[in-house]
Amino acid sequence: MFGAWAPDEDVATLAYFGLYALQHRGQESAGIAVSDGARIVVFKDMGLVAQVFDAPVLSTLHGHIAVGHCRYSTSGSSVWQNAQPTFRTTPAGSLALGHNGNLINTLELAARVRASAPGNGDGPGSGFARLPEATSDTDVLTALFTLPAGGVDGGIEAGALAGLPLVRGAYSLVFMDEHTLYAARDPQGFRPLVLGRLERGWVVASETAALDIVGASFVREVEPGELITIDERGPRSLRFAEPRPRGCLFEYVYLARPDTAIAGRSVQATRVAVGRTLAAEHPVDADLVIPVPESGTPAAIGYAQASGIPYGQGLVKNSYVGRTFIQPSQTIRQRGIRLKLNPLRDVIAGQRVVVVDDSIVRGNTQRAIVAMLREAGAAEVHVRISSPPVAWPCFYGIDFATRAELIAGGLSAEEIRVSIGADTLGYVSLDGLIAATSLPAGRLCRACFDGDYPLRVADGEQGKHLLEDAAMGPARAGS
Ligand code: SF4
Repeated sequence: MFGAWAPDEDVATLAYFGLYALQHRGQESAGIAVSDGARIVVFKDMGLVAQVFDAPVLSTLHGHIAVGHCRYSTSGSSVWQNAQPTFRTTPAGSLALGHNGNLINTLELAARVRASAPGNGDGPGSGFARLPEATSDTDVLTALFTLPAGGVDGGIEAGALAGLPLVRGAYSLVFMDEHTLYAARDPQGFRPLVLGRLERGWVVASETAALDIVGASFVREVEPGELITIDERGPRSLRFAEPRPRGCLFEYVYLARPDTAIAGRSVQATRVAVGRTLAAEHPVDADLVIPVPESGTPAAIGYAQASGIPYGQGLVKNSYVGRTFIQPSQTIRQRGIRLKLNPLRDVIAGQRVVVVDDSIVRGNTQRAIVAMLREAGAAEVHVRISSPPVAWPCFYGIDFATRAELIAGGLSAEEIRVSIGADTLGYVSLDGLIAATSLPAGRLCRACFDGDYPLRVADGEQGKHLLEDAAMGPARAGS
């Protein structure tokens, strides 16, 4: 997510560059909302930022406030109706909102919205009747902020302050009405959100790397449990909940850009340190350390530094493979991983190779990589993973899989080694990973590794298609 309040800037283009820097956080849809102080215009579509926006489109978005979003779906289908920013109007103003995270009381909030909306229920005046196709937790949140009880009379700020304490789960939010930019973070601060300063104006972004790219200086992180409002008077901080920080450990492993800093520490430095720990915890006699690019690269550098084994590039990544509208044919799909990665035979042949990757989720990628390296002539393949086994699902904004689909949910490390066909397999320890972040364990969520969930999630609130299932009735629910 990216937001800007900047009277001297072309905020739509600023948001475009901000989203471009954050494309790795979501590739399904992209959108930008802009306000000129009187009217909000939203443009969004399915696809990558560069597919959705071009110069003619950006030139139609005029104003001094912008909210941008690129979506990775964790709740609700990947369809246009669920693209963000979401948009709702009230008699007191309009709301355009971007959300990173995943709520864990969506059905409860949806029931509250239905009961409180004008028309009181499923009638034509209710919040859901106005946008029946949207089925994301974010749409429920947007409806909550525009309920008459909190929002319509007092405006969007009052609606947000009334609604935020009711919301549970992971939410970093950037939103706006016609006059003000807002940024809010859940009390746990699961997902990152930072405030930056322009010469004349302010930006908020999911990661510090986006600040660098638009020429903003880092001011501070949005605090867990804080709502920041930004208008011509500058930023104003409001607290809606006591902070109970539990930032996502997986941001360090995979999600965040290496050139981003979290809690003052560069993600790259953390990943290199994890690689060094991995070498100490799982040494091996080998000839070459190679990364699975890109997210395995820093840890492979750390592994090579600490082990003294030469570092090399053994797998070439096609950077242009993302989600596109072109579905590969069945024949190409069967080649699977080769679309993304191809081995350098000259480098690999005859070598005892240590291949470093960031995580194992289902195991299919690592199985394919080991097979590919053996085909390329590797004498031995030693797999090293810069995170502990991912054994538990995430309900806070990463759509891993169910526990049954996670290979570490059912198999031991030795069984996984056999399953992926490696000569040896080593995961970094949870303590080793946490130590590399420089944060105390108690400030981090690590539930996908140890099953210790900071917020309990009711069985009925689990699943990606809660609102679709509820709308379809019991026959669809649970399918
Ligand atoms: S469960 Fe894992 S991925 Fe999800 S927020 Fe916690 S550490 Fe991050």
